[in-house]
Amino acid sequence: MPDPLSSLIQKLPPWSAIIRGTLMRYRLPCQRPACPRCRPGGLKHGPYWYLSVKLNGKTRMRKLQDHHVPAVRQAIRHYHRWKKLSVRIFELNTQALLAKGQ
Ligand SMILES: [Zn+2]
Repeated sequence: MPDPLSSLIQKLPPWSAIIRGTLMRYRLPCQRPACPRCRPGGLKHGPYWYLSVKLNGKTRMRKLQDHHVPAVRQAIRHYHRWKKLSVRIFELNTQALLAKGQ
């Protein structure tokens, strides 16, 4: 049976498929004058998918093609799994380090 640390490490998602961000969906007005959809109270256009990410402390929004959304959603799920597993790995490392000193 593998030790707890190894089994946690095996469950980590692949590095190339992790994104830290949030999926968002918005309806937006266009720039056309007198567009009936963009009048006050109108439906506007979309909804469109956006990925919100923080880069160097600034929030950036990136518009996504609909066909990219499932992979992005999966990569965000991977990030949350990575974070949860990492915390447990750090705890195990700390326990192992402190046990050595006893
Ligand atoms: Zn419009």
